[in-house]
Amino acid sequence: MTQTRRLSILLMALIIGGTMAGAEEQKKCSADAKECARTIREMLAGQKYLGVELINSKKGIAVKAVMPQSPAEYARLRAGDIVMILEGHDISTLQVREIKQYIEDAKKRGRVMMITRRNGIITRMDIRFAVMQQAQIDKIVAAHMKESHSRQDQH
Ligand SMILES: [Zn+2]
Repeated sequence: MTQTRRLSILLMALIIGGTMAGAEEQKKCSADAKECARTIREMLAGQKYLGVELINSKKGIAVKAVMPQSPAEYARLRAGDIVMILEGHDISTLQVREIKQYIEDAKKRGRVMMITRRNGIITRMDIRFAVMQQAQIDKIVAAHMKESHSRQDQH
């Protein structure tokens, strides 16, 4: 249960929006590496995702990273972009953890509307969630193994 919760925090961070707490959790993963890889695969199979990681910044909620070949990349989101409006809500003074519900609602609809700012240029985006492909899942598992499981774990 605890492990599932920790993984779920980690995966939320990977898929839609990371927090500093999420990043810390990721480093602490002490589960058996094989078991952990299997759990991640089970949780990600058929998951809808955008492929964007969000963080709190001085300017508001910002894009920290965009996964290659993800809906976020195809929508031309880039690291450093500020997300001002999400699903019609002004999120300029909110923190990432406060917008989880908006993202969940968008996920149910299958698409998310956001207005972003980059170097003073405002862009409206309507991004469709995609189902995660096997290659994408492989990359996430590999990245997690590298990040959170020391060599001693990988017998
Ligand atoms: Zn793990």
